[in-house]
Amino acid sequence: LKVAAVSFLSILTLGIVGIGLIVSPGVVASELDQPALIGAVLSHPRIHLLSGANSDVERGLVDPGVLKILLILAEEHELTRVGPIISGHSYYVRGTTRPSNHAFGRAVDILWVDGAPVSYSNAGALVATKTLLSLPEPLRPDEVGSPWRFPVRGSFSDADHLGHIHAGYSKKDNS
Ligand SMILES: [Zn+2]
Repeated sequence: LKVAAVSFLSILTLGIVGIGLIVSPGVVASELDQPALIGAVLSHPRIHLLSGANSDVERGLVDPGVLKILLILAEEHELTRVGPIISGHSYYVRGTTRPSNHAFGRAVDILWVDGAPVSYSNAGALVATKTLLSLPEPLRPDEVGSPWRFPVRGSFSDADHLGHIHAGYSKKDNS
């Protein structure tokens, strides 16, 4: 049983690393300044922001790291319903008195990936989750909530995250 568990972890880790190797377009996004990032996200044909999230981005309230990961994911995926970022999200993490990273523009929820709601059976959402977890620092989000929990830092899943991907940074200004 122990051997089986170890090889499963190895396969999982290899999968994440393997996907990480092909995320080189992220290097391009990481070199854009804030106004260019905002313009790129707002005009991207595969990034569809919900109205509250759209105005958060327009108003310059969103952390550069969040903008960059949207651009990176959009290289490979249709992000059909993106938000909330700040507007429309609760100030606190649900069930706690801990302020959410959403409140500071440091987190985004992605509700639909590749034309379908995020769920355990959405293969594109699974790949997108692995991509987020395989990004190099400082692009790699500190929090990646999804229907899947991988044995790596920041990955989590719970009842609130079975229908969307949450990507958030606990640190300020990921420019
Ligand atoms: Zn969230």
